[in-house]
Amino acid sequence: MTRTRRIATEEAFATAEQMQAIERVIAGGQRDADSPFWSMMARGQSPFAQRVMRQLLDVEGERLEIMDAYGVDMHVLSLTSPGVQTLPADDAVSMARRSNDLLAAVIERHPARFAGLATIAPQAPKDAAREIERAVTQLGFNGVMINAHTNDAYLDEEQFLPIFEAASALGTPIYIHPRAPSSGMAQPYLKYGLETAIWGYGAETGLHAVRLLVSGLFDRFPTLKIILGHMGEGIPFWLWRLDYMHRHGSGRPALERTITDYFRDNFVITTSGMHGPEALRFCIELLGSTNIMWAIDYPYQETPGAVDFLQTVEIAEADRANIFHRTAERVFGIAPVNP
Ligand code: MN
Repeated sequence: MTRTRRIATEEAFATAEQMQAIERVIAGGQRDADSPFWSMMARGQSPFAQRVMRQLLDVEGERLEIMDAYGVDMHVLSLTSPGVQTLPADDAVSMARRSNDLLAAVIERHPARFAGLATIAPQAPKDAAREIERAVTQLGFNGVMINAHTNDAYLDEEQFLPIFEAASALGTPIYIHPRAPSSGMAQPYLKYGLETAIWGYGAETGLHAVRLLVSGLFDRFPTLKIILGHMGEGIPFWLWRLDYMHRHGSGRPALERTITDYFRDNFVITTSGMHGPEALRFCIELLGSTNIMWAIDYPYQETPGAVDFLQTVEIAEADRANIFHRTAERVFGIAPVNP
């Protein structure tokens, strides 16, 4: 019996220069809600920090061994959050290019094992649009990664239009990955360390996606695809109420369709770091497994747990195959192996 192909879609790597630049920015006194986490990581202050740093910086060694050990066929790789988004614009633009060149070389050496999402510098929107075009048309990348807000700015703001124009024209999806809440939102999260993956990442990214949904972006770009991790960052659970309140509220842009329509047609979600069977079955019922992809969130979360979850969760086999590989093949343009 042949095993179902497994494509993991939110898998992080880092470059040494990215980590050095993030450390420099923090040492220079620039503080945001992501800084405590990256200070802790940079100083290797826990076994978790040491392991994750080692595994982020490795792409072709230990990573491939772990993939082989647990039957993971492919990682769709992206530069770890916050990407280059905390750096000065000029540095960010050039580092994004170098990071994409490096990733393209890795994929060229292992075309069956890796696909790639392009890093961009949203703080320089026109350069970001050019890099999207270069990454997709010249480097063969499968999409774009943006790590939530950039210097507290959200992607529905007019300045970011060139990014969506480029992605929409090329038909390439944009994965919106979490980072810690923007400075206007962060304060109440700090007391109990809630600004990271336990709640703050999801709250920040959920807000970000809701802003896109109500902004009219998807009337302007009806074929645009946005990907959200972590089972949709809470939004699936809220869709009914979002529709109801949008219908009954005022002071927001008029939309051609309902929030649920946009979420079903313009969004795809992944299971990264969320292994609750009930939540997955709910999302399959609400969105369909053709809108759901599997992810590990390597190296922040463990590969065996992610494989075991989707391999054993009680769902229809056709849904399992969609989530393990078919949706990713369609959304990212990855060639099927067993048609
Ligand atoms: Mn992640």
